[in-house]
Amino acid sequence: MAIEQTLILVKPDGLIKSLTGNVISRLSEAKLTIMGAKVVRVSRELAIKHYEHLQDKPFFEELIQYIMGDVHKTYRVLALVYQGEDAITKIRDVVGHTDPEQANPVSIRGAYGRVTRAGVFENVVHASSSAEDAEKEIKLWFMPEEIVEDLYPVKEITINEVKKLVWA
Ligand code: UDP
Ligand code: MG
Repeated sequence: MAIEQTLILVKPDGLIKSLTGNVISRLSEAKLTIMGAKVVRVSRELAIKHYEHLQDKPFFEELIQYIMGDVHKTYRVLALVYQGEDAITKIRDVVGHTDPEQANPVSIRGAYGRVTRAGVFENVVHASSSAEDAEKEIKLWFMPEEIVEDLYPVKEITINEVKKLVWA
């Protein structure tokens, strides 16, 4: 048992289907602590960095368009950081299998996800799959001051005489 952090994204299909409240209620079953939350307009650069590990997959371009909101014409995702004991596994259990058709029907993806004709899994949420991924993803999506505690080492930098905290 370890205290872990995890990044959750309510993807554009989740927002357009008004599932945000529902998703947060379901996530609360894991009894974790919310550490950060914000609505993000996803740039192509952010999308590519987030899904870097899937660059060689045939569905990569569709996936980038999906997470950016091009597919659903709603250009936003809700980004959340949770912390707690075994946070990654607990959240992945509530979220369910990557493929909505294989996911437990009571999981978020099983209940609300779908597979498109192009074969993309529109599965409503993203959740980090390891501690290493969580660290990479949280640092990518959040600035230190957007999270209520410093989850990872930070350093102070000065830009145009303004001091700012960034991930070390
Ligand atoms: N994905 C897809 N088809 C696949 C595998 C993945 O459309 O065969 C999409 C799906 O939206 C998934 C995302 O790519 O959530 C990231 O894939 P990953 O293997 O990291 O699954 P996850 O960690 O999201 O369960
Ligand atoms: Mg993944």
